[in-house]
Amino acid sequence: MSTPAGEYDSVPDYLAKVLRDCGRDTSGAIAAELPELGGSGALRHALAVATAQGEEYSAGDDQHLFTIQSISKPFVYALAIDDVGMGQVQQAVGMEPSGEAFNELSLEGETARPLNPMINAGAIATHHLVDWASYEPHAPGPERLERTEQVRRRSARILAGLSAFAGRDLAIDWETADSFSHRNLAIAHMLTSHEVLEGPPEEVVLGYNEQCAVLVTVQDAARMAATLANNGLHPETGRRVISEHAARQTLSVMATCGMYDASGEWLARIGIPAKSGISGGIIGVLPGQVGLASFAPRLDGAGNSVQGLGMFEGLSQDLGLHLMASERRDIAACLKKIHR
Ligand code: GLU
Repeated sequence: MSTPAGEYDSVPDYLAKVLRDCGRDTSGAIAAELPELGGSGALRHALAVATAQGEEYSAGDDQHLFTIQSISKPFVYALAIDDVGMGQVQQAVGMEPSGEAFNELSLEGETARPLNPMINAGAIATHHLVDWASYEPHAPGPERLERTEQVRRRSARILAGLSAFAGRDLAIDWETADSFSHRNLAIAHMLTSHEVLEGPPEEVVLGYNEQCAVLVTVQDAARMAATLANNGLHPETGRRVISEHAARQTLSVMATCGMYDASGEWLARIGIPAKSGISGGIIGVLPGQVGLASFAPRLDGAGNSVQGLGMFEGLSQDLGLHLMASERRDIAACLKKIHR
């Protein structure tokens, strides 16, 4: 481990060096679902670090907004735990790695639950538990593909929750939210047939699409991760966003299931509970210490950002972030020592 103590003018200077090193790798492909990320946009990349004490550093295209996609899943899982309690969440979704593609139509054998909340089936199930108390059953009718009152309410609660994690008001990219996924609808129908979902599946998928289409910068994403690192308490606003229990449960599932079917190798190589999304973002959380976020849109075969993987590997090695390392480091202090 080579700690970059005293080697750079500033932390952003160090982060820019990590970005430059990883930026040379132009392998991988833009997600087929998001062609708008191609062209010159495919060259964008950014990196941000937010400590549990409220310090923030970033480099690269750190003001660029991208849709949060699957990075929303751990945050919405945490909101669902606090809204309905772990008992009801556990009835709807498990916590075992799936080893399958994120959009697989599969359920746990005996319980018929989705295996975990980080794959689409589990994320659609957790989405529908948010704001459960205000759910009012209504007869399916010709308006089923409309944004019903239920969709609006749940979506508003999720947008407010994600905004509280970020510490600022986030917005939805409506063009992305409107691109309806037949595969996710098929997953939702499967969940309805096993009574995991109540209410029209179309309604849940419309809301889930809105959840995935929330726009964030890499700085927002790092701050959201730092809120998880800080036991659910926002490091800057001081607001309790989720309970300590929800934060710990969410981090546990991120550690084992967050990186699609490359989660095991990620934990061994990088050692940070993390979640990636198909728009090219990755967040990582070192409990009690720091939230990290990277953005670079080209993905590897498992659906994880190629450059993002490199950035996290560099940070993990340089700053000694691996969870399983026996040496415990004070990361905030280590960042301070980076200055010349
Ligand atoms: N909106 C995407 C979907 O559900 C999110 C997938 C992802 O980021 O993994 O297909």
